[in-house]
Amino acid sequence: MALTSSHEMLYKAMEKKYAVGAFNAENLEMCQAIVAAAEKANSPVMIQTTPGTLKHADANIFRAMVQAISQSAQIPVALHLDHGVSLSSVMTAIRAGYTSIMIDGSKLPLEENISLTEWVVAACNACKIPVEGELGRVGGKEDETESSISGYTDPKEAVRFVGETGVSFLAVGVGTAHGVYSVPPALNIPLIHTLRELLPVPLVLHGGSGLEDDVVRQCIQAGIAKVNFATELRKAFTDAVRKKLVLEPGLIDPKSFCAAGREAVYELTLKKIELCGSAGKA
Ligand SMILES: [Zn+2]
Repeated sequence: MALTSSHEMLYKAMEKKYAVGAFNAENLEMCQAIVAAAEKANSPVMIQTTPGTLKHADANIFRAMVQAISQSAQIPVALHLDHGVSLSSVMTAIRAGYTSIMIDGSKLPLEENISLTEWVVAACNACKIPVEGELGRVGGKEDETESSISGYTDPKEAVRFVGETGVSFLAVGVGTAHGVYSVPPALNIPLIHTLRELLPVPLVLHGGSGLEDDVVRQCIQAGIAKVNFATELRKAFTDAVRKKLVLEPGLIDPKSFCAAGREAVYELTLKKIELCGSAGKA
């Protein structure tokens, strides 16, 4: 299938109370693994890249790879810009053919976050591309930005933010962090319930890597419709490659160790899709 918008898959997930996994890919093999796992599970899926990843290989390259891989799959695949930071980073992704956009103004004061997000929504509306905004703070290191604090999303501000910006989805701060957790996070599940009741848009959970399965399930039951997985996938790929190279130090063909990474990402993505409850929902 051709690449699809994330709009329908996330509104359907919100309505039916499951979540769609959004998986960060860093290379060809990770893209192949994510689509293959979603195809196996008959699940809708989102592949996403951060601006940092797009410095490694640009948006045209990722769009071409993901499109070619999706073409032979029978499931909806959306290609999403994760943590877009400016109107120009967003426009670069749109011109390349991305079908879903995030603008992250969460580190700005509220008024500035609203005006930046409004601009991006206006630009994306013109090409019918849905926009994920962020309000509240997801701590930890994501791409090249880092925050030591995780700020909870204020429900009143969230209602104003969604109303004024017209975002399609909202990433919320509920106690998760990016990267690897050194101590278990203090997740505010009742806050997810409150936001779900107040807001008309699908809610997004960042920092899904390293959360206990049961905690992810509770977040989805409370109203999360998109869960991002980045760190765990990167680790799965790299651990598998490292293991292969240590076991077979004479290897010289990148195909052989990259295939080990691909297999590990496939297995992990399949587990996360099951966890999100989106298997069979393509
Ligand atoms: Zn994030």
